[in-house]
Amino acid sequence: KKTIFSGVQPSGKLTLGNYLGAIRNFPILQEQYNCIYCVVDQHAITVRQEPAALRRATLELIAQYIACGLDPEKSILFIQSHVPAHAELAWVLNCFTMFGEASRMTQFKDKSAKHADNINVGLFTYPVLMAADILLYQTDLVPVGVDQSQHIEICRDIANRFNNLHPNTFTIPEGYYPKVGEGAKITSLVDPNSKMSKSDPNPNGYILLMDKPEDIMRKFKRAVTDSDSRIIFDPQNKPGVSNLLQIYALATGKTIEQAAAEFDGKGYGEFKPAVGEAVVELLRPIREKTTDLLNNKDYLEQVYKEGAQKASYLARKTLDKVYRKVGFVAR
Ligand code: ATP
Ligand code: MG
Repeated sequence: KKTIFSGVQPSGKLTLGNYLGAIRNFPILQEQYNCIYCVVDQHAITVRQEPAALRRATLELIAQYIACGLDPEKSILFIQSHVPAHAELAWVLNCFTMFGEASRMTQFKDKSAKHADNINVGLFTYPVLMAADILLYQTDLVPVGVDQSQHIEICRDIANRFNNLHPNTFTIPEGYYPKVGEGAKITSLVDPNSKMSKSDPNPNGYILLMDKPEDIMRKFKRAVTDSDSRIIFDPQNKPGVSNLLQIYALATGKTIEQAAAEFDGKGYGEFKPAVGEAVVELLRPIREKTTDLLNNKDYLEQVYKEGAQKASYLARKTLDKVYRKVGFVAR
């Protein structure tokens, strides 16, 4: 059985982009693979977080993973900071990552432009910690949105570099991306050229899984489209309309062609609320389940504690091997 690893940051509330680009596929994969899903709180502190909010967002993310269909009996679900091997392996991998290659990461450039007052070293070495997350579990496949493809590539480069010096240490992972039109990149509702992101300061740009139906409707009605009113899938020339068509298709289980045919000849005044309604219905059960789970903190605690135990056992095996190979004396 292949091993799957993926993580999401508790850096805010989950967006429709996180769901359609990544989390939606997690429960499907758990039927076929050994799946390990992580709440990457150590990644989240690369930008300033309010401590109480981070703690709340971490629990909420565990609840949302389960509400989206993850079964803690089938998948390992845990919090990154509970498994110290992540930080430990990251240190070793830092020494196998070149300053030049890390400097080319576009996420670092984007985030340091957004957080110019706090360009910390953790933000710079983010992809190294991410490589440690993945490589610790001898992961075969990493289901993520396309915004993470550069980080998957550097992870493979680091692993190959290490394996060349110390053969048979790491499995070389592959990214596992949704296809174009199937959620690989959901864009902002106010700026269709940039991705929908939970740390966007403008809340009209994103839909949260926990948004109330009226907020969802309002955001879709105001979504930026363009001046000509044709409803066709053409991401190059009509990024806003194409994004909405993609969201509608994914929310209703239709193909993009079916969705486009349905709105052929109709105006935005009919189209945008229809997308909103489809998303309201998609998210309703997830929101209700999350709310229920958050009222059961004991259960959540049991899930992430058991998850950390299982993850630690696997992580330790890889870390011990790495420590031996680099020449550390066994403890
Ligand atoms: P942040 O702005 O704090 O980085 P984020 O919304 O990018 O938040 P992450 O926790 O960094 O969320 O990413 C979680 C997963 O969601 C990753 O697999 C990422 O590729 C995916 N993802 C994030 N945004 C989108 C999007 N707009 N479309 C598709 N997938 C996305
Ligand atoms: Mg991100």
